[in-house]
Amino acid sequence: MDFDFTDEQQRFRLEVREWLAASVPADLRGRGFAASRADREHVDRLRQWQRTLHSAGYVGIDWPPEYGGRGASIMEQIILYEEMSRAEAPQPVNRGGLSMLGPTLMKHGTPAQQARHLARILTAEEIWCQGFSEPNAGSDLANLQTRAVLDGDWYVLAGQKVWTSMAHVADWGFFLVRTDPAAPKHKGISFLLVDMKSPGISIRPLRQITGEAEFNEVFLDSVRVPAANVVGTMNEGWGVALTTLAYERDLLTMIRHISLRTALERLVALARRTKKNGHTAAADPVLRQRIAALAIAERCLQLSGYRSLTRILTGGAPGPEGSTSKLFWSQVDQDLAEAATEVIGPYSQVAAPSPWAPDEGQWEFYALLARGSGIRAGTSEILRNILGERVLGLPKD
Ligand SMILES: Cc1cc2nc3c(=O)[nH]c(=O)nc-3n(C[C@H](O)[C@H](O)[C@H](O)COP(=O)(O)OP(=O)(O)OC[C@H]3O[C@@H](n4cnc5c(N)ncnc54)[C@H](O)[C@@H]3O)c2cc1C
Repeated sequence: MDFDFTDEQQRFRLEVREWLAASVPADLRGRGFAASRADREHVDRLRQWQRTLHSAGYVGIDWPPEYGGRGASIMEQIILYEEMSRAEAPQPVNRGGLSMLGPTLMKHGTPAQQARHLARILTAEEIWCQGFSEPNAGSDLANLQTRAVLDGDWYVLAGQKVWTSMAHVADWGFFLVRTDPAAPKHKGISFLLVDMKSPGISIRPLRQITGEAEFNEVFLDSVRVPAANVVGTMNEGWGVALTTLAYERDLLTMIRHISLRTALERLVALARRTKKNGHTAAADPVLRQRIAALAIAERCLQLSGYRSLTRILTGGAPGPEGSTSKLFWSQVDQDLAEAATEVIGPYSQVAAPSPWAPDEGQWEFYALLARGSGIRAGTSEILRNILGERVLGLPKD
């Protein structure tokens, strides 16, 4: 494992740090750790921020130059995320497009699909949502039932998706649909690019525990999608989806700890200024231990990320770290939110826009949001199954 950054990487870090110090808008600074993408106006503001980042050359830096990136290594990508966390800058809003669909299109898309979509992903001109989950297809995703029937040069879609984050603000969605119902479960699925403004799509917001509606039910009623929008081969969309999911679960391993660090730094600042029983919460021996344990956990995640990174950079394949780090990250995320709740005390329950909500209600929001960390991108139970069966060699039953 090599912990040293090259001179060139150090220079890149300083360049990014300087640029961020001068460029992060005051109204967005410090709001990334408990960010909501439910409100249209806020999402538009974040689109603008992604455009600013893109103009400065900081979006998709690890994408090859022919697709609009810098062709930088994943090390630069990590440095960029670390510096964004340090500057309390929000991440690019088009996350599904940048980290999931973009790499999938580069691997499986046609030149026409790449030319049509990749540049607009980078600039956030078109925001993407992920239409995979259905009422009876979550952990068991291959059970999906949304049908797509070929009619000349078009597919006609009928069915329902659920938990579709940002569908209400998305311009496009990447959907999994069943194109051959007679085939075995994992066959007969296709990966389709769907214009979210197509007639026949209705979107119903789902109110979350946070009180906001960032995700939605999406109903598809005779929605016509050009056959040219299939990514990869018809009926072989499961393999394409595995690429997308690998990017969601595995490559993010290296940077997952960064979001925790942002929240941790804020927690330390909160503990230093919050008075409890005549002294600051930071002076409370039990809370100190708890915060120290969280800092150690964050560091463990970082080192484990570096370990898998080293393996990949030296030509190896990603190991089981994707599942371990996702599982561990979600636990630490929830512990951190609980520690903040304890530091604040009863006022931790007060939500924005109440003037009594500490830190403008961001901790209350974060504590509720963290409940979903053990569900999205693979539930904790499923990840334990993967670790038990594929790493520890435990029997399936
Ligand atoms: C914040 C958030 C954002 C999301 N965004 C999107 C999105 O944009 N697009 C999208 O397509 N989906 C999205 N999802 C959906 C997410 O992928 C699913 O919630 C997840 O895959 C779990 O599926 P499910 O909710 O149907 O639960 P189920 O699969 O029905 O699971 C219910 C419970 O049973 C347990 N369980 C299921 N099978 C097993 C098993 N074999 N062994 C042990 N336990 C098991 C699960 O762990 C869970 O506790 C999002 C979810 C969240 C929380």
